[in-house]
Amino acid sequence: MKVYKFGGASVKNAPGIRNLASIVSLESENLVVVVSAFGKTTNALEKVLMAWLNGEEKYTALLDEVYEGHLLVIDELFSTFSEVKEKIDISFARLKDYLMTGSKGKHDFEYDQIVSYGEIWSTIIVEAFLKLSGMNTEWIDIRESLITDDRFRDANILWSESTNRIRSIFDFKKKRIYVTQGFIGGTVTGQTTTLGREGSDYTAAILANMLDAESVMVWKDVPGILNADPKWLPDAQKLDEISYREAVEITFSGAKVIHPKTIKPLHNKNIPLHVRSFLVPGEKGTIIKADATLKKIIPVFIKKEDQILISILPKDFSFVMGDNLSRVFHSFIAHGIKVNLVEASAVSIDVCVDDERVRVDALIADLKTEYNAIYNESVEMLSIRHYTQEAIERITKGREIMIEQRTRSTVRFVVRQE
Ligand code: ASP
Ligand code: MG
Repeated sequence: MKVYKFGGASVKNAPGIRNLASIVSLESENLVVVVSAFGKTTNALEKVLMAWLNGEEKYTALLDEVYEGHLLVIDELFSTFSEVKEKIDISFARLKDYLMTGSKGKHDFEYDQIVSYGEIWSTIIVEAFLKLSGMNTEWIDIRESLITDDRFRDANILWSESTNRIRSIFDFKKKRIYVTQGFIGGTVTGQTTTLGREGSDYTAAILANMLDAESVMVWKDVPGILNADPKWLPDAQKLDEISYREAVEITFSGAKVIHPKTIKPLHNKNIPLHVRSFLVPGEKGTIIKADATLKKIIPVFIKKEDQILISILPKDFSFVMGDNLSRVFHSFIAHGIKVNLVEASAVSIDVCVDDERVRVDALIADLKTEYNAIYNESVEMLSIRHYTQEAIERITKGREIMIEQRTRSTVRFVVRQE
């Protein structure tokens, strides 16, 4: 069997879903199709959540807009009144009910209960359309089989429990194609969780691992993995094949093409990952696999924007390398802040993290008694894998460099955002 994953951009409107159906129809093997929320639905639901949590009435109007967007797609794909519209109506009504009557719990918990609807709606519509197109499909609610802990908004998979359930649900006995949600899961007690933004790629990799898939195909709006974002460096070139190691390094550094967590489950089972364009499905794209051969080693440029650089200094001027380091990093983990770069000197630690203000403020408040912590906002991290002097000059010229870090294969710069 194979796993196909379609992201938000591929299902942003009715023609996108028709295109998805035509790609899926060409596959003759057993298939799990993992789908993200339509287009910008996740962002829109985040806005609904914020308005609702802040007690602003406009949340209903925001939600109605999301509903209208989905209806538009249904109208275009299905003739007259359809069963799918009824399902979507019921699901929206359930969410509205929740928002009207539910008491407001903690932010991360509510985030998962609300934002997860995007994937439920998209998969209901996509599955119904595949069925209408004559395919032998079934819609699966992944929350009942992909079991996680209750770390809301960044849930961890409970592997053995999930593997058992996934294998018995996706058994291909009566159906050849299963359509299910990326990004979301559920706890053993049935609460909805999410795996972190852009987490659908990760779902595809987890399912592939548990079901021993032959391959995973991620369908994107780019031709594959390029050696830079073409919006930044227009002469970017496609990489035909890269190893798991290369892939994990460049995605961790900030290459947005796939989620960094995607690689490990595939590496562990030696399952190749194909990144292909849904716009030109016949082209080969990029293959990530164990025995990849780099025809020619070229620099890979990665930019991670919207970073905060935090400098932490023990107030008593003690060295940071011993207990302080572990104390500080425990605090980062406890606050759910992902560390992208660390640089330590005798009495200070510099850490580059994603700009998640709420979490960073809480962290700094927590460290305040023992440490002086200051931070610079609006910085970005530039990385070059397989760097050359020329490559370095190309991207750092005229930039104010705050931190520079080099290994044999990678150089990283923290610079002020332009
Ligand atoms: N819909 C979610 C997001 O936009 C998950 C995903 O697209 O992978 O973050
Ligand atoms: Mg998305």
